[in-house]
Amino acid sequence: MDQAIVDLRSDTVTKPTPAMRRAMAEAEVGDDVYREDPTVNRLQERAAETFGREAGLYVASGTMGNQAAIKVHTRPGQEVICEQRAHIFNFEMAMTAAFSGCLARPVWAEDGILTWERIAPEVRGRSDHRARTGLIALENTSNLAGGSVYPMAIADEICERAHAAGLPVHLDGARIFNASVQLGLSVAELTKKFDSVMFCLSKGLGAPVGSMLVGSKEFIEEARLVRKMLGGGMRQAGILAAAGLIALEEGPRHLPVDHENARFLANGLAEIPGITINPAKVVTNIVFLDVTKTGLTSFEISKRLLAQGILANGVTAETMRMVTHRDVDRTGCERALRVLHEILKAARGVAAA
Ligand SMILES: *Cc1c(COP(=O)(O)O)cnc(C)c1O
Repeated sequence: MDQAIVDLRSDTVTKPTPAMRRAMAEAEVGDDVYREDPTVNRLQERAAETFGREAGLYVASGTMGNQAAIKVHTRPGQEVICEQRAHIFNFEMAMTAAFSGCLARPVWAEDGILTWERIAPEVRGRSDHRARTGLIALENTSNLAGGSVYPMAIADEICERAHAAGLPVHLDGARIFNASVQLGLSVAELTKKFDSVMFCLSKGLGAPVGSMLVGSKEFIEEARLVRKMLGGGMRQAGILAAAGLIALEEGPRHLPVDHENARFLANGLAEIPGITINPAKVVTNIVFLDVTKTGLTSFEISKRLLAQGILANGVTAETMRMVTHRDVDRTGCERALRVLHEILKAARGVAAA
């Protein structure tokens, strides 16, 4: 019997592949603060090329990349418009306030997909009373809205209208390659109107560490200074960048399988009594399910799954998240469904007794 752990907590849990380990062991390195690490330089050039941009910057994490971008685009006392479930607003330790001195102006939108119509009323120009808008930040795919994808026309319109209003737009593209696979459009095409893009190597692409910022040469030069402020000058970082290069070149190829597995999970979950889910909303590698009708909290379910080697996190007491990635296969997904089914059946038995 296959008793390996099935880890559906996040796509960050992937382990480096043998090819990555080899590349890391053999990486040519230098001091990256002196810009002398050839492997980091190559990764930054390849990232910039892939996104059709002038320059790229290797950063320790997605949070560091997003917050460096926010710092470069804004001045203290401004507002950053984002969707209510945005990672920059909910999961980055209030750094928009603590580091950039800006207030987030969260706006709720169906499936986490903002439109210019929703944004426009929140944009503030010069005023004697209210803080000025400094930046608009979009997230694609939207993590907490279930891996939803921005239709390109909607994101493009936001960028165009924002630019006409003199506002920059940053993309938190932690999972932009998932959006690219889902839409069948290149990441360069999808992101061309944004002023800056952050994407993660350490999520679905499978690298052990690291994210990238891409943008104009001028933007990246400024972001480089901010990265140093954040303690992100990493010296012989080529050891890590070597795995990042493999993630960038080969990682996207695996994402269609992750998406198929997420769809498989969603369809299976829809069959389990007590679980509420709309499989049509599962379009990338993130699955949200509502467990209200199971009579158990998500945290209790997590605990019972864990006892049987299935890892999945409760997000709120009512909702759980499952994320597919290259280290979980179809058999693992089948087992997760089977175990969850048994746990809920047993819970109903207890409740009926
Ligand atoms: C994971 C993630 C990030 C960055 O996370 P780190 O853990 O700091 O690398 C940023 N935005 C979104 C939407 C994410 O899912």
